[in-house]
Order: sequence, then structure tokens, then C-alpha cells
Amino acid sequence: MTRTTIVSTALLAASVLAVAPSALAGSDKPVIKEWSQLEKNDKGRKVKVYYMTIDGVMVHETDPAKQPPPPIIKPGTCSTQDRPGTAPSDAVVLFDGKDLKHWTSTREGQPTKWIVKNGAMMPTRRSGMIRSKQEFGSCQLHVEWATPAEVKGDGQGRGNSGVFLMGVYEVQILDSYGNTTYPDGQAGALYGRKVPLVNGCRKPGEWQSFDIIFHRPVFDGNKVVKRATFTVFHNGVLIHDHYELTGGTGWKGPHAVTSYRPHGDKGPIELQDHGNPVLFRNIWVRELED
Ligand code: MG
Repeated sequence: MTRTTIVSTALLAASVLAVAPSALAGSDKPVIKEWSQLEKNDKGRKVKVYYMTIDGVMVHETDPAKQPPPPIIKPGTCSTQDRPGTAPSDAVVLFDGKDLKHWTSTREGQPTKWIVKNGAMMPTRRSGMIRSKQEFGSCQLHVEWATPAEVKGDGQGRGNSGVFLMGVYEVQILDSYGNTTYPDGQAGALYGRKVPLVNGCRKPGEWQSFDIIFHRPVFDGNKVVKRATFTVFHNGVLIHDHYELTGGTGWKGPHAVTSYRPHGDKGPIELQDHGNPVLFRNIWVRELED
């Protein structure tokens, strides 16, 4: 049926046009309207505001009251091997090289035995894991780490640590520079669950970074109704591209996987003590909407 036929013949066709003109894709053009008018801005001054609708749906307007601009923040600075960068102004800084006031032991009620040395934090012998006092759900997390310059051990015993989102979901830290292990347990892996897209590990002793965009899972009772997702950059290189986590990352033996276990909307950031003196610096978080 041609457009001419539709317009010239039936009432029925006319009513279809009135209800859903865009439904005639390919045979009809969308109705675009553009206009401008003078309006008072928040300072009482008259300014010209531009509008556009497509098929009656507002797609563009320059009135800042109706389309507010995003908040202005001060971005941080990038790190070098010699000097850590700074966090953006809207971030929660968890470690800036000075002290461990934002951290505690994962052993209930105990202070951490991790230490700060030369602007970096690190575990001591059998100190156990460390957790942030503040809890987070969906977030952007920046963390820098360095595996020991003096190489000891191999496989999972070489520069092992990890960053746990909500204290549960581990992005693996390992010295994966010329060190073979199971791929879903190497540096940057979502442990036991997802191999990173590439291995961009730096040499032992060099500073490396993770930038993690994490969206928390959502539970309805015992059932996960929205899975967690991870986008991760390792040393600025994408290694997980909005990956939907199919279950937990808990260790359950070689090549075994764990399932989701229900938890709250927020949890701590945890760093692992796996018996290797891995260094950390410049850790900050920005909370995100789910
Ligand atoms: Mg680990």
C-alpha cells in the first residue's frame, strides 16, 4: 500500500496516522517540529530557548532548568611510576598514602595489622585481609598495586592479592608477568569466572592500576534478579567489557565455581592478604546509580 492510498482512502488509515505515525517506518517521514522562544532564566534574564520534537516527543531543549547540566567536578591527576596521582573531587578517597584510618581488619572488631611504608600500604605476615570502613554498592573504583620486585614463587604463589567488591567479588591481583597459572586466576581475572581479554601486566615491582566499573547484583530473597556487571581497565587497557557475572568468584577448588549468595545493597572494598607483600596506593571510589 502506498502513502497516497492511505491518505486518500480510509478513515481507519487516518486514525492509524494520528495514533502512531512512526509505525509507518519506511513509508512515512517522522514529524519534526523545531521552534525557539524567549524565556526567563534562573537569574531573571530573558534568553532564547530552542526546542525540537519528533513525532511529538521532546528530544532537545536548551532550557537548563528542564535539562540541567551535569555537576562540575575537579578531575584528578594521573599517576607516574614515581608519584601517585590524585582523585577527582567527587571521589571518596580510601587511601592517599598517609594512613589506614579508612580501613580495618576483616576479622571482626580487630584493627588491621597492615602497614604504611613510603606512601604505600601492604600486608604484614599473617595480617589477614583488610576492608574499607565505608561500604559501597555500584561504584567506580580506582586502585594501584605493585607485586614484589623480588620474585618469589610461581603460579598462584607469586604476587597474589585481590580487590573484592562488596567483600565478595574478586578482581584478581597476581604477578602475571611471565608467570603461568590458570587463566581465570591470572591478574585481572574475575576470579574463577572470567579470563581477562588481554594480559597487560607490568614487570614485578612496577606500579599498575585497575579502574573498575561495578554494578552490584540485585536479589529477591535467595534469587538473583539482576546480575553484577564488571567493566575493568588494567593499566588503562580494557580487560572486561561490561561482563555479566554468572555467579560468585569464591575459591572452591581448581576450576570449580560458586553461585550467587544473597547479600545487602552495600559492602566493603576488601584487599587480600595471600601471603605476598603486594603494595597498594591511590585508592578512591565514586558511587554510581544501580
Ligand atoms: Mg587473589
